[in-house]
Amino acid sequence: RTRVIALDGPAGTGKSTVSKALADRVGARVLDTGAMYRAATLAVLNAGVSLQDTPSIEDVVGRADIRLDITDDGCVTYLDGVDVSVAIRTDRVTNAVSAVSAVPAVRTKLVAVQRREAQGAFVVVEGRDIGTVVFPDADLKVFLTATPEARATRRHKQNLAAGRPSDYDDVLVSVNRRDHLDSTRAVSPLRPADDAVIVDTSDLTLDQVIDSLDGLVRD
Ligand code: C5P
Repeated sequence: RTRVIALDGPAGTGKSTVSKALADRVGARVLDTGAMYRAATLAVLNAGVSLQDTPSIEDVVGRADIRLDITDDGCVTYLDGVDVSVAIRTDRVTNAVSAVSAVPAVRTKLVAVQRREAQGAFVVVEGRDIGTVVFPDADLKVFLTATPEARATRRHKQNLAAGRPSDYDDVLVSVNRRDHLDSTRAVSPLRPADDAVIVDTSDLTLDQVIDSLDGLVRD
């Protein structure tokens, strides 16, 4: 049977790191749904379409072939057969992704892919609307939060570690802007499911977060 751990929350709460570590601990795999919205956004940017032009966004994303290869080391993301795992992490994509993911037809398409990919598997699915919309019957729902400063600090360090240029103040502004857009959109806004366990990761180490979640999975 399909077993799903839904892991939602805003950017910079440690979601990807927590997903991987938790999946390793419990023998599950990770489905990174943010990577799919990023791939859709890359398709839109590559097509030179304006972010205000909803019909063209629907058209481009409707024709895009977006796939995730779920490996033991994480997800490899393909757009029209090309590995775009690195290309989807640029600022250009990050700054445009909230606009593209607010388009209802984009969500309908990607949610269908997400449900199909999880079929029959044991997966930690990370995103924004997993516990509320994609898998409302998930076996466990976790919502990670953290202060804006803690989230910006994490993102900033991740950028530097990955060799991407980064300025803390810019990252703080961008993290806040994206979360505001994601939380206020009309469809599937970012919010905890009523039955989600809320974990504030601001002052917790990764090991502390994993230990508390591991306990919940085994309950
Ligand atoms: O998790 P990540 O930062 O890669 O997500 C990128 C963006 O994709 C989010 O800011 C959000 O706009 C969108 N997203 C979404 N629903 C999801 C996952 C991501 O709208 N389930």
